[in-house]
Amino acid sequence: MRTTRSKALYQQALRYFPGGVNSPVRAFGSVGGSPLFISKGKGARIYDEDGNSYIDLVMSWGALLLGHAPVEVTRAVAKAASLGASFGAPTSAETELAAIIARAVPSMQKMRFVSSGTEATMSAIRLSRGFTGRDKVIKFDGCYHGHADSLLVKAGSGAATQGIPGSAGVSAAISRDTIVCPYNDIEFFRNVIAQQGSKIACVIIEPVAANMGVVLPREGFLSEVRRLTAKNGIVLIFDEVITGFRLRFGGAQDLFKVKPDLTCLGKIIGGGLPIGAYGGRKDIMDHVAPLGTVYQAGTLSGNPVAVAAGIANLKALSQKDYAALDKKADTICRDLQDVFKRKRTDVVINRCGSLFTVFFTSSPVNDFTTAKEADSKRYAGYFWAMLGRGVYLPPSQFEAQFLSFSHTDRDVAAVVAAAGAA
Ligand SMILES: *Cc1c(COP(=O)(O)O)cnc(C)c1O
Repeated sequence: MRTTRSKALYQQALRYFPGGVNSPVRAFGSVGGSPLFISKGKGARIYDEDGNSYIDLVMSWGALLLGHAPVEVTRAVAKAASLGASFGAPTSAETELAAIIARAVPSMQKMRFVSSGTEATMSAIRLSRGFTGRDKVIKFDGCYHGHADSLLVKAGSGAATQGIPGSAGVSAAISRDTIVCPYNDIEFFRNVIAQQGSKIACVIIEPVAANMGVVLPREGFLSEVRRLTAKNGIVLIFDEVITGFRLRFGGAQDLFKVKPDLTCLGKIIGGGLPIGAYGGRKDIMDHVAPLGTVYQAGTLSGNPVAVAAGIANLKALSQKDYAALDKKADTICRDLQDVFKRKRTDVVINRCGSLFTVFFTSSPVNDFTTAKEADSKRYAGYFWAMLGRGVYLPPSQFEAQFLSFSHTDRDVAAVVAAAGAA
């Protein structure tokens, strides 16, 4: 496989961008080597600058559930752009998109559009603090909620009460207000609530974790989190930036039948264009300015081009057979499991809907601690071997693989065959 042009473009990019990229994982740091520069995508395939083509299992980190460049979306984008890219004034399309979202996710009685998932979670946290008059936030170890200061905090070993910054530049004062609990550990969570419940503004969680690799919630975990937060006047935020419109049209909250107070969306609701949303209970959302005292704004919020893409994307998705996609994802995971078994390689494959991760480990993965037992070096070898056989995997063991409606049975078979050879 020739990648000379990608390599040259990377050298040029290194001059201008830290690490040559505009988002860290793109630099291939955890698999080594030099990233591919992508020139185009169509359906389930992407093409690099050297003309190689790949079956894509990243799909812009989950934003593209229909596949690359679906005609419905590209047509809507072109039309909206020709009418003016931004006005900084209301447009009817925003209400149209909100209505589609509210119908699919009824817990989002009112919402706000922003420009990224990060902005959605950041704003939901501020709103929860403004609404409750409390400062502390609970998040779960290994869950990613964008890069706002208060959410870039990991657990120190067993230190439930003392957040340790997960990034330089996050002040100790801010991280002190973030409490980190292990995912899926309801006893730990119950104890934190018992001790500090009255100081906690909100709990934010990925209902299916997809940023430490895919980790499913244990049976009853989400409903117990819901029960305890409700009992203690704590706002429960589901970060459905990945799971929204993916696990089902109604997201994880529809799948698990657990209703959060606030929901954050992103990725799929923009069909590849920059958008995010947060929303939920009317009585909470009415605390947002101009109705309330929690300030949040955006020059490009509700941007007409992104909103047009979102409407076209969600309308097309509403006609899709999610059960069939689920079955395809089940097939690929079973067949991969068989391949690895035949090759006597220990893997654990976690899957929920069209999200899955192949962990190079022999013990079950239920939280970040067990996820980290996976062999990242082995994954790196697998990644390059798959790339050489035309399959583009996420360049990290701790990211989800994404199937889309554009992946055919042939694509699935090709991925499985490549895995055997890899
Ligand atoms: C991607 C992601 C975010 C952040 O969204 P951006 O658009 O990258 O800012 C937040 N939460 C989850 C669960 C995500 O996967």
